[in-house]
Amino acid sequence: MKESGRKQGAVSPCAACKLLRRRCAQDCIFAPYFPADEPQKFANVHKVFGASNVNKMLQELQVHQRGDAVSSMVYEANARVRDPVYGCVGAISSLQQQIDVLQTQLALAQAEVVHMRMRQAATMPNHGVNSNDNASPSSKLLSPHTKSFFAMDMVVDQANMGESLWSC
Ligand SMILES: [Zn+2]
Repeated sequence: MKESGRKQGAVSPCAACKLLRRRCAQDCIFAPYFPADEPQKFANVHKVFGASNVNKMLQELQVHQRGDAVSSMVYEANARVRDPVYGCVGAISSLQQQIDVLQTQLALAQAEVVHMRMRQAATMPNHGVNSNDNASPSSKLLSPHTKSFFAMDMVVDQANMGESLWSC
């Protein structure tokens, strides 16, 4: 009971007040967003934005917007500490590059699907002949020619597809 009474006082300030070495008031603007058990969260924000700027930015916002603003500032500050040149722009542009690469891969895969469907549609009559192989001896005679023709066609086709895949 004694301890809970002490915690509300100056003994356990929020992470911001602790770093700034000031008394954490009851209405401290930082306290809800920078708890004492996450000191690094405020340290980076203070390093990049400065405590008084963070204070001003929070004052200008509605209370319900402050949590989002703080998590945005924490993200930006951490990115800036990790990458002093590009900050979060580095992360954004690397993700955009990944999107570009993946969209190219997706377009290629979709083109291949269309290509394979067209190829499959073109070879359908051949499959019909093959399935009749056992039924009629005359179709059995014809099948080696038709089979080899389509088999060759498929080989050439796959080689082209491989080239188009690797060239990109
Ligand atoms: Zn405080």
